[in-house]
Amino acid sequence: MCGALRASDAGKKAVLMGWVNRRRDLGSIIFIDLRDRTGVTQVVFNRDTAAAHGKAEQLRNEYVIAVIGTVKLRDSNTVNKNVPTGEVEVVVEELRVLNDSKQPPFLPGDTVLPNEEMRLKYRYIDLRREPMQFNIEMRHKVSKAIRDDLSARGFFEIETPFMTRSTPEGARDYLVPSRVQPGSFYALPQSPQMFKQILMISGFEKYFQIVRCFRDEDFRADCQAEFTQIDLEMTYPQVDTVWGVVEGFLTAAFKAAGHEIKTPFPRMSYDDAIRKYGNDKPDMRLPAMLDIREALTPEELDELATKFRMRKEFPLLLIRIPHAGDISGTERRTLGTYGAYNHVQGPSFVQLMTDPKRFAKDYPALSEKVAAFAKLGSEDLWLLAGAANRPENAAVMDQSVQHFCEKCGFLRLDLAQKYAAKHKAFEKTGDVSKDFRFLWVSDFPMFEWDKDEKRWNPAHHPFTTLHEEDFAKLDANIDTVHDPKSQLGEIRALAYDVVLNGTELGSGSIRIHRQDVQKKIFQALGMSDEEARARFGFFLEALEYGTPPHGGIALGLDRIVMILAGAESLREVIPFPKTARAVDLMVDAPTPVGEKQLKELGIAIKKQT
Ligand code: ASP
Repeated sequence: MCGALRASDAGKKAVLMGWVNRRRDLGSIIFIDLRDRTGVTQVVFNRDTAAAHGKAEQLRNEYVIAVIGTVKLRDSNTVNKNVPTGEVEVVVEELRVLNDSKQPPFLPGDTVLPNEEMRLKYRYIDLRREPMQFNIEMRHKVSKAIRDDLSARGFFEIETPFMTRSTPEGARDYLVPSRVQPGSFYALPQSPQMFKQILMISGFEKYFQIVRCFRDEDFRADCQAEFTQIDLEMTYPQVDTVWGVVEGFLTAAFKAAGHEIKTPFPRMSYDDAIRKYGNDKPDMRLPAMLDIREALTPEELDELATKFRMRKEFPLLLIRIPHAGDISGTERRTLGTYGAYNHVQGPSFVQLMTDPKRFAKDYPALSEKVAAFAKLGSEDLWLLAGAANRPENAAVMDQSVQHFCEKCGFLRLDLAQKYAAKHKAFEKTGDVSKDFRFLWVSDFPMFEWDKDEKRWNPAHHPFTTLHEEDFAKLDANIDTVHDPKSQLGEIRALAYDVVLNGTELGSGSIRIHRQDVQKKIFQALGMSDEEARARFGFFLEALEYGTPPHGGIALGLDRIVMILAGAESLREVIPFPKTARAVDLMVDAPTPVGEKQLKELGIAIKKQT
C-alpha cells in the first residue's frame, strides 16, 4: 500500500497502485506522489528507464496507475518529515496507466476546500480526501466496536422493516406509495420503536440494531432526513441495567477512537438539570448556575429583592464564566442583549446585575459573601439574574420558575460561546475526564405542553412508562389534555437521556408493558379508543399476549462519530449526506417522476400556483 514503505524496506522490489496525487516534471526526472487509502509514496521516473519515463509525462492528477520499482533511501536533505513514507521513494522500472481522469473540480490534496455544495456534488472526490477517509474509517471502527460489545453482552442484531407504518416519534413521516394498493402508503420508520418492543414480546430478550431512521423535519441546521441510530431494547431491565449497557458500548466505542472513558457516568434529575443549567442537556464543562439565596439571610434577600425589583420566590442565579472577567464597561452593559438568550420566547422578565464592581461598592459585605459562596476567582466573569417583579405587568408576572431558569441557561450558554477563547473549556486538553463530560439525565416529565396545539403531548413517546407514585396523578387528571395548568405536567416518566458536553446523544425509557396502562396514557393524550386502534392497533393487541416488562434506548451514531472524529458537522461523517433541505446533490434527489410511474401509483401531482 502507498502508506506502508519505510527505510527498512530499502532495496526491496515494490508494486504500488493508486492515484496520482501530485506530479512534478523536472524534465529528466519526474516525481509522482502516489496515493491510496493508507497514504502517499513518492515514486520517481528517471530518463534511463525511457519507456516508463515517457509514459509518465502523460500522467495527470487523479490518473490511476500501477508501478513496479525498487525502494530507495532518499538523500538526507530530501527526506520528507511530514509523511511516514518520507524517508524512501520508489524508483520506477515499469508503469501501467490503469485509467485516466478528467481534471477534477478540486483535488483531494487541496488545502483550501471548495464550497460544500461542490464537495457534495462531487462526493467521490471529496471522500478521497484524507480527513474524510479518516472520518469514514472512524465510523467503521466505532460501529464495529459497538456491534462487538453488544454481541458479547448477548444482544442479537435483528433487522426491522423500512416499509412500515407511522411510528410514534412525533415527527413528520416520509411516505412510500403502494402500487398494488393505489392510495395507500407505507411510512418509513422514524425509529424501530414498535418493532423492537414487539421483539421483546417475541422472546428475543436483548435486541440491537445500527439502523437508519427517517424524519421529515423542517429545515434544521445539522439534522439529517435519514440518520443512524444505535437502537436497543431488553426485557426485565431496571433503568440502571440499560445505563450499564450503554456505558459499556460507549466505553468500547471511545476506546476504538483511542479514549479511555470512566463509568458510571454522573446522574442528574431533569429538575436539577433545569435548576442548575437551565436545560435538559447540561454542558458540565462550565460551572452550574448557583441560587445565591441559599447564602443570604432573609433580610439580605429582602433588601436585594426590593432594590433590584426582583421576586424573592424565584431563584437568584449567579452565572459564572471562568477567566472571562476582563471586559470593558460597554461590553459588560450589553451582556445579555444578544444571542439565543434574547430569542427565547416570552417577555423579557429576567433582571440582570452585570457590574460586580458597583455591586461590591454598594453592598461590600454581601458581595464578599457571594464571592465566597460561589468560590469566585478574581478573573471570573459573573453576573446575577433574578426574575423581574412588576405587579402592574401581568405577562411578566405570569412566568414560571422553569422558564426563568431556561432563559438564564441560554444566557449561560451564550456567554460560554462568546468567551470560549478566554475560558478554553471547549478546547481538547488530552485529559479524557475533562474533554468528555458524560451525564445521565433522568425523570423527565411524562407530558409537555404544546403551545401551538394547546395540548399536552408525550415528552418522549406514548409507550414510555411513569413513576409508580405518579399513577394517582394520572388517574386524577386523565381528562385534562387541553388544560395548561393540569397536573399532567407534574407526572415523571421513567425516561432518560445520555448527554455529552451539552449534546444529547440518546434517549430511552422503560416502557409500558400493560395494556390497561397504555390505554390510560392514550386517554390522557385525548386519543379515543378508535383512534388508538387505528394508529397502533396491532401493537395494542400484541401487548395483550403476555408482554414482559422491557425498556431500551437509542443513540445517534452520526453524532457520536462526529464528536470522536472532531468534525464540525454530521455531514463530515456521513458518506453520502443530504443538505439541510434534504437534497442529495450527488444523485440529485428528490426528482419529479414521469407520468407513467405516477399513473401506476394512482397519484396526480397538483401544480403549485
Ligand atoms: N425510539 C426512541 C427514539 O428514537 C428511542 C427509544 O425510546 O428507545 O427517540
